[in-house]
Amino acid sequence: MSAFGDDVVNFSSVLKMAYNFLSGRDYLKKLKFREKKKLISVVLPFSDLVFAAGGVPVFPIRMESFVLNQYLVALNSASSFLGWGLTSKLLGFIKQFDALKILDTILDDVIKSINIKYNEMCDLGVESGISSDFCYGIKNLFGMHVSKGKNVDASLYFTIRCSAFNKYHESLKLLVPKQLWVDIPPRNIGNSEELLAEQLRKTIQNLEEITGNNVTDNSLNKQFRISNQIKRYYKTILYEISASDFYPCNPATFAVILSLISISFQDLNSNSQQYLENMANLVKEMRERMRKGIGMDVSHMPRIMLTPMFGGWEPETQDILYEMGARTIYADWDVFGLLEEVNVTKNNDPIQEYAKFLTNATSKIGCDNNTLTDSYLATAERLNVDGMVFNQLFGCHSVSNCYSMLREKVRRTLEIPITYINFNKIGENIEQVKTRLGAYMEILK
Ligand code: SF4
Repeated sequence: MSAFGDDVVNFSSVLKMAYNFLSGRDYLKKLKFREKKKLISVVLPFSDLVFAAGGVPVFPIRMESFVLNQYLVALNSASSFLGWGLTSKLLGFIKQFDALKILDTILDDVIKSINIKYNEMCDLGVESGISSDFCYGIKNLFGMHVSKGKNVDASLYFTIRCSAFNKYHESLKLLVPKQLWVDIPPRNIGNSEELLAEQLRKTIQNLEEITGNNVTDNSLNKQFRISNQIKRYYKTILYEISASDFYPCNPATFAVILSLISISFQDLNSNSQQYLENMANLVKEMRERMRKGIGMDVSHMPRIMLTPMFGGWEPETQDILYEMGARTIYADWDVFGLLEEVNVTKNNDPIQEYAKFLTNATSKIGCDNNTLTDSYLATAERLNVDGMVFNQLFGCHSVSNCYSMLREKVRRTLEIPITYINFNKIGENIEQVKTRLGAYMEILK
């Protein structure tokens, strides 16, 4: 069993978030067949327009059936009459008598279940014809659409700097009934923001046709407000709680929570209001535990930012770093400007404001490595981390090749140690990762 787990049973918000992620299949079936909602596949955290149109954004892996820890299922049933708060208190009480340590495996099982499915999707992608030379992320996104693409009504895609990613989306043509594209101009020059706003209007029209609902300024602003609030909680966890000398749980659990938020942030578990409530509860539960002194003194443990992880990473890394005496921080969405808020000031045009938000995000990702490395640098500086581990993905020619430039800048400007690890597939390279991180930790000490 991994290092975490033993203290997560007291976090009802985390258990609920994990349950909502893993039980997506039944939830989405209910929305599609009983409530006649339209499902729109999204990758990366661009789900606001779908919510505003009354559709259901779905990160496609959530349509798969996962092996659910039986206690998580029982918990969900118990929570329907006790509420999640009481359920986790009850769990905390039962845990004292759990000599077999069965409860400790809840979060372990969640993560295991997600990882097995990610690898399965990657294999399916390759078997179905996507070149094995592509990065892990693209292979498994393709596999997810081979597996469940026919169940969605459309896919919504925003172009990013990676040409392989844009090519992958083109290849979904035969797998999804309809494709919606938003081409974000790579640079903010001339009237590019206006052109982007125009494209967003067209995409909204398409979404209206698919869902049969009208999108108004009010429905857009309402959704942006919900997302803004979620981002505020996300930033509180990253900037306030992760920077504290006392954690509400052990740092390995904390890293698992960050990774779960990072994955589920893409479609907000298909229910933004519920996700907001979970995030609010998570911050509340964390603060309460810290106030009561429940958790762990982590003042002696350096904070390491591991990035990028959105295209696939080895989750075991966070355990390895923990066992070596460090804490792992994941902040990809912040690096790429996706935790910035959309301006919802009265009388502003929400579509224009969303175009501004997207333009700002694109300027952080950048077309060139200089801009991208500056974004990594700026986030590491804001988070005040003690070190950085760069995750180099096999098959990535867009982001991974900025490492040497990043290393120079980090050493020169931040003066913190940086290293890289290689990633091809979950579970494949663990011994090498251990060796590299072992040497790295010697420098950090
Ligand atoms: S990991 Fe690299 S190749 Fe894969 S989608 Fe991201 S930028 Fe593109």
